Amino acid sequence: MRDGTESFAEIRESVRALCVEFPGSYWRELDRERAYPKTFVDALTSAGFLSALIPEEYGGSGLPLSAAAAILEEVQTAGCNGAACHAQMYMMGTLLRHGNGAQKQKYLPAIAAGKIRLQAFGVTEPGSGTDTLSIATSARREGAHYVVNGQKIWTSRAEHSDLMLLLARTTPKEQVNKRSEGLSVFIVEMREALGKGLAIRPIRTMMNHATTEIFVENLRVPAENLIGEEGQGFRYILSGMNAERILIAAECVGDAKWFIEKAAAYAKERSVFSRLIGQNQGVQFPIARAYAQMRAAELMVTEAAKRYERGEDCGEEANLAKLLAADASWAAADMCVQTHGGFGFAEEYDIERKFRETRLYQVAPVSTNLILSYLAEHVLGLPRSY
Ligand SMILES: Cc1cc2nc3c(=O)[nH]c(=O)nc-3n(C[C@H](O)[C@H](O)[C@H](O)COP(=O)(O)OP(=O)(O)OC[C@H]3O[C@@H](n4cnc5c(N)ncnc54)[C@H](O)[C@@H]3O)c2cc1C
Repeated sequence: MRDGTESFAEIRESVRALCVEFPGSYWRELDRERAYPKTFVDALTSAGFLSALIPEEYGGSGLPLSAAAAILEEVQTAGCNGAACHAQMYMMGTLLRHGNGAQKQKYLPAIAAGKIRLQAFGVTEPGSGTDTLSIATSARREGAHYVVNGQKIWTSRAEHSDLMLLLARTTPKEQVNKRSEGLSVFIVEMREALGKGLAIRPIRTMMNHATTEIFVENLRVPAENLIGEEGQGFRYILSGMNAERILIAAECVGDAKWFIEKAAAYAKERSVFSRLIGQNQGVQFPIARAYAQMRAAELMVTEAAKRYERGEDCGEEANLAKLLAADASWAAADMCVQTHGGFGFAEEYDIERKFRETRLYQVAPVSTNLILSYLAEHVLGLPRSY
């Protein structure tokens, strides 16, 4: 699966070298405890990988999105889990494209130097779910501050982040011309806010994901922490979603590669009925099919990233990449369990852990149904369904 023509070969090689230090035993132990992979995140940060997208003038490496995709793909291919820190990559666009000079100057050098982390993204709410325009969290201007009230759910990495990008309604839905107006994005300094209007409650999930619920009560956020224009926040979040989809898709391609390599290796060494199981086409074909699915998804990730980097509309390609890659990784996960028979369920093989981890991408950060709905409506021109 590595033919020497891969993009960003040197970066990929360095990521692989770093990941070797974090073998399955490291992840298994954390998984049991539902503990945050701090050492791993620190290592990625010090190596500069998490500041790949920060421009050089702010201390980052100023690399394009496809380099970030290559980094995250390699993390997953190595059997590690980028979910502990991938948000820093995909949220960066909102700050880079829509933040003002003072905000960039204040936060980007410190993020690039690894002094602070931008890992939490507060969009989803228990009451609105996928229907982001119906969020109830509100922010009311009071002098030099906004006073924020509401609740967020599935705010991942909140306990391990210094900054959170928070989406809140600044104008009630009834008072705006379009439902997509009246939402705003704020940078919340979480260490400062904790206990002064911000409370975090961890949610235990089927995999080790450090996700939480956030309760906001009369939290005072300085007005200078508003990103861009008040009321235009949904547009900013949307513009970052293509990057998010492309990066998550790259992770899924990495997961699929891990499952395929693992299954092919096992099928070449496990002997049953005095023959290698990989000699049976009933075992070969699912591995070959998973490989075909992964390669198709990989091409779409590359295409989507190219369009994104050229500044072209890449909504269709970003959504296709996420759909195809999440399906490819999930199919590869299922195939890998099947190829391993009973051992697929044994903790020490890491397959059941990766199986649980990759399942998430059928649901988050956008569920498969919502992608199909986007393609149906915006690409194929079918009637809007919701
Ligand atoms: C582990 C984890 C981490 C997450 N991290 C974050 C995070 O850091 N920040 C953040 O803001 N959010 C995060 N999320 C939230 C995630 O983005 C949402 O779970 C996801 O968008 C789906 O929303 P929901 O769970 O509210 O499902 P719902 O909106 O309640 O939907 C339930 C089901 O119904 C389907 N559905 C709903 N409406 C339609 C429709 N019109 N047509 C067809 N099907 C439909 C959905 O596809 C889904 O399968 C995370 C979620 C999880 C589980």
